Amino acid sequence: MSFASLGLNEKLVQAINECGYTEPTPIQQQAIPLVLKGGDLLAGAQTGTGKTAGFGLPMLQRLSETKARPLANGRAPVRALVLTPTRELAAQVEENLRAYAKHTDLRTLVMFGGVSINPQMKALGRKVDIVVATPGRLLDHVSQRSIDLSRVEMLVLDEADRMLDMGFIRDIRRVLALLPKQRQNLLFSATFSDEIKALAEDLLHQPEHIEVARRNATAETIAQRFFEVDKGRKRALLSYHIGHHNWRQVLVFTRTKHGANRLAEQLGKDGLPAMAIHGNKSQGARTKALSEFKNGGIRVLVATDIAARGIDISELPHVVNYELPHVAEDYVHRIGRTGRAGSNGEALSLVSAEEKPLLKAIEKLIKQSADLEQVAGFEPDPNAPVTPLENSRGGNRGRNGGGQRSGGQRNGQRAGGNRNGGNGNGQRTGSSQRRSRPQAERSN
Ligand code: AMP
Repeated sequence: MSFASLGLNEKLVQAINECGYTEPTPIQQQAIPLVLKGGDLLAGAQTGTGKTAGFGLPMLQRLSETKARPLANGRAPVRALVLTPTRELAAQVEENLRAYAKHTDLRTLVMFGGVSINPQMKALGRKVDIVVATPGRLLDHVSQRSIDLSRVEMLVLDEADRMLDMGFIRDIRRVLALLPKQRQNLLFSATFSDEIKALAEDLLHQPEHIEVARRNATAETIAQRFFEVDKGRKRALLSYHIGHHNWRQVLVFTRTKHGANRLAEQLGKDGLPAMAIHGNKSQGARTKALSEFKNGGIRVLVATDIAARGIDISELPHVVNYELPHVAEDYVHRIGRTGRAGSNGEALSLVSAEEKPLLKAIEKLIKQSADLEQVAGFEPDPNAPVTPLENSRGGNRGRNGGGQRSGGQRNGQRAGGNRNGGNGNGQRTGSSQRRSRPQAERSN
């Protein structure tokens, strides 16, 4: 199937060719014709599926087919608005839209917090057709009267589930109140909680529904490996893996900002150039870390979950869960940073005894059991005390299964569909898993 056969015009097809895309992804095959028809859309899709082009290409086509009336002050109106949860995702989406719009006369602008508002205000003085924004900064512009949203024809809520997780629902509703009633609405979400369904019900008018396979069900290009190790030996094991396999580009996840900082520092001392990226870092520091990581200046980027949303580095070969996430879905988002667009990747998780309940919740979600491996010299001490994790949403907060250790060393096995194997007491403790995030890290 070609992009042209989906109904896209020559200018867009040319830009897509220049991006190197040869075939539309499943979400693009479904979304593009539906969005071109002009109706509302509810789409279940995660980052990495090609969803940005799925809404961006038909958006550009629809906007280029009609001319907008100028505002009363003579200025060109903002015609489409894309809301995203994080700065990184906003930047990524706008960058993609700009590439797709290259041969049109449509102009895009990104706006997010953490940087001076002045250049954004200046840019709004020129013609801007599509604004990609995080909700907080958009509302700052509204209160400064630097943006007029009364002519928005198309609205996209990107990663809507994450926006709600981060507490943006009131901001979103404030933005919605500023938009004209007649418009096309597209809502993208990886998960569908009751809260998302309620928002979709309010926002969307007779929407078409589409869903592409979740990456956790289909990401066969990602080899998942799980290593048992004591909490206090995780850094040594991480350095061992990086050095032993000579990994040049590794994205490492921690649960906390403080943990990310500390780990990046310690890795630096181990001779592995590393930087941390999280919500407390200035936008300049985040952008710098990301670009150094992309161009090979640093080998290790240590990130928290929120900061990593929207990071798109093509063919990222290695992701490490230094600490398992409290929210099982975050595991899927994390490992989705590798094995993208058909390339192979490896996702490695370091699992300490206190994290076993979190691992159970992940196994339940991905419908696979984890084969726990051990590395010689890093075997966990069976007599080490196990301190329950704070804020754990994993259900069983205490010692899991009497401190059981699963079978000895297993080499190179992927987590494969063996539901009954693995670390086996058969208990699943993930049923209390919630999508609530302790102390949400607002990056807006
Ligand atoms: P997204 O899910 O929109 O964040 O896209 C994930 C990555 O896939 C981005 O790097 C896109 O540039 C890339 N991509 C999107 N569509 C295609 C396609 N049809 N073929 C190859 N790569 C694509």
